[in-house]
Amino acid sequence: MPPDLIKAKAKADGAGGGGRKASEFNPDLAIIRAMSTVLPGALPLAVNGVRVAASIRPRRLVVAGGDETPVTMPRTAFQIVYPDCSVMIDSGLDKATHDSFSPDKPEPYFVEQFAKLARALDAARLIVLTHHHADHVAGVVRARNFAELAAKTIITMDVADCLMNTPHRPQLKLTQAAIAKFIVLDYPQYYPVAPGVVLIRAGGHSTDSQMVFIRLQSGREILHSVDSAWIMDNILEAKGKAAPWVKEDVPAVMAQLRWLKAVHETEKSLSILVTHDDTLFERLVQSGAIGGQLAG
Ligand SMILES: [Zn+2]
Repeated sequence: MPPDLIKAKAKADGAGGGGRKASEFNPDLAIIRAMSTVLPGALPLAVNGVRVAASIRPRRLVVAGGDETPVTMPRTAFQIVYPDCSVMIDSGLDKATHDSFSPDKPEPYFVEQFAKLARALDAARLIVLTHHHADHVAGVVRARNFAELAAKTIITMDVADCLMNTPHRPQLKLTQAAIAKFIVLDYPQYYPVAPGVVLIRAGGHSTDSQMVFIRLQSGREILHSVDSAWIMDNILEAKGKAAPWVKEDVPAVMAQLRWLKAVHETEKSLSILVTHDDTLFERLVQSGAIGGQLAG
């Protein structure tokens, strides 16, 4: 990497990209919007979501200060629809991987929805995995046609590193040879990965976490905040998760929640997605911001 790029990367890391001391997070939406239109090709027409499973947890684990009210947290993936193809953001997880999280107390799993997701992954032109956690990568990593899917799946160096060295579940650990089947890239802060789609480095929830900005042909914008928040209330209340097993860079995540709250309050043409918020998913489907069924 040339010295100026290394400097830029270090700066981005220090500014909330993924550095350990990150406590600021201020992605520039003007730069991201400009970047969303640099790649040749038509902008996307729509974004569809799918819920393949859920975990149900008391609110006190989901939002700091929460009570015993059960919160349904779906495990989701999203499909960006173009006139002639589709791009998948994350890949859900197979039932065995889902069940491995709570072997003694089975949680909801939607077999038919995962079958639809698997078909959408097969049909996609491109797949992007936002971070290495099981509910985001297992649909690719554990697929019977892994090599075929990996050949059209973009992961970052950080995701690759986590999949090899700190897998979320033992069965998701990949060898160097398996990683070599992916398209692996590195970028300092933002990366235009497809027409209308820009990746944003957002280490914090995990070191390799990213957000995804999507600009549709209609001018509508979607910002997938992935797992910085578990539910929209983490953003609205600027309060983190409170589950003891979640090991996050808390200052980095808090900075992201503050930025997302500001974006939510000021950007009226933009809808924020949160991977694990069931109520938000329903509301966005009802309002037409996203489709509730995968196409194809
Ligand atoms: Zn997740």
